[in-house]
Amino acid sequence: MKNLTKRFTAIPLYIQILIGMILGIIIGIIALRLNGEKLIHDWLVPWGQLFIRLLQLIAIPLVFVTLIKGIAGLKDVQTFSRLGIKTMLLYLCFISASVVFGMGLGLTVKPGMLVNRETVSEIKERYESIIAEKAVAAEEVKDQGPLNFLNDIVPHNIVRAASNNSNMLQVIFFAVMFAVALLMVSKDKSKPVVALFNGLDDIIMKMVDFIIRAAPLGVTALMAGLVMDFKGDISMFSALGVYALTVVVAMLVIMFIFYPLVIALFVRKMRMKDFIRAMYPVQLFAFTTSSSAATLPINLETTQRELKVSEDVASFVLPMGVTINMDGTACYQAVAILFIAQVLGIDLSLSQLVVLLVMTVLSSIGTPGIPGGTYVILAMVLMSIGIPAEGLALIIGIDRPLDMLRTSVNVTGDATVACIIDRNYHISST
Ligand code: ASP
Repeated sequence: MKNLTKRFTAIPLYIQILIGMILGIIIGIIALRLNGEKLIHDWLVPWGQLFIRLLQLIAIPLVFVTLIKGIAGLKDVQTFSRLGIKTMLLYLCFISASVVFGMGLGLTVKPGMLVNRETVSEIKERYESIIAEKAVAAEEVKDQGPLNFLNDIVPHNIVRAASNNSNMLQVIFFAVMFAVALLMVSKDKSKPVVALFNGLDDIIMKMVDFIIRAAPLGVTALMAGLVMDFKGDISMFSALGVYALTVVVAMLVIMFIFYPLVIALFVRKMRMKDFIRAMYPVQLFAFTTSSSAATLPINLETTQRELKVSEDVASFVLPMGVTINMDGTACYQAVAILFIAQVLGIDLSLSQLVVLLVMTVLSSIGTPGIPGGTYVILAMVLMSIGIPAEGLALIIGIDRPLDMLRTSVNVTGDATVACIIDRNYHISST
């Protein structure tokens, strides 16, 4: 047994995760066939939940410490602003390109035209109550005025902000402010604090290491649970087949064609093949957890170890990307909104399309990196272009697998930007 464990841990992580996924799917299918769902729910699924809990537990300290360490490690505030501006601009370009791509697909494929009316009313009935909740939440946000997003970024209490993983943007704000101040005080004052954060970073990374070791088991449990939960949605999936397929194709194109091409064009000495291979464990991890925040630890490790991105760039670009850069979510939102409009027979004018573009770019920035993080935000975007939020009912039933895919895209986008910035940053700082 000991020998077997030793052999298993010697296998590369992404293969371990892949084995875990396949095992989970097999267990889920067997449980469904043999009516063993309760057994699996009671004895296996909790391990998956525990694994996710551990990842959530580490998310805020990880973002906080890595960001401060990353910024404090820069030469001065000027270097920080250069790096910050470049990162934000790149994020914005990637998100906008993803939205345009999603809108292009939605407008040409027109998946909403291909759903029959009976399916539409059946779906609406099924998800009525969930949608009402999201609509109320979105209405509250919408009523707060156009500059309200600033309140979402600036917390009034850091302890409160840090008590909820979906407030990551607020934690990032505090960490960046703290780190910039740290860069600006005299070296004799900042030195012990920087040393403290360097030490904390090592400790947190060690904790991350412990958690990641449990990934194959966590992934097995999560996949088994997902297979069982998904069984009722299979019919829904085929009813909305063209829509689902449009999203899947969009995600695969961004992940396996767009990013590798960008890497080949803008990152010297990195081959597309190597990038794709290195990203497998990160993508599989994002796929099973549906959370960019939960995937941050493994993304940090992979970009530094496999893609040779320097620590200062990775620890600045990736934690920022967790909530800010969501290409998969942005593209998905565009396709989803157009789909809903088409099903409901709402013809969007050119000006509505422009609002859609801008709102989708901005709203994907505010989407928390958690499973289904996009929903309240999506409801708000829908209402802002005059589509009833109830339209969400049409897509919520098959969202989980699409969430899994878009999360994989989100984290790959962060790593791509980290690679580009790494090259530029080092070229300009040498
Ligand atoms: N689950 C996504 C993420 O964590 C967010 C979303 O699109 O719902 O990146």
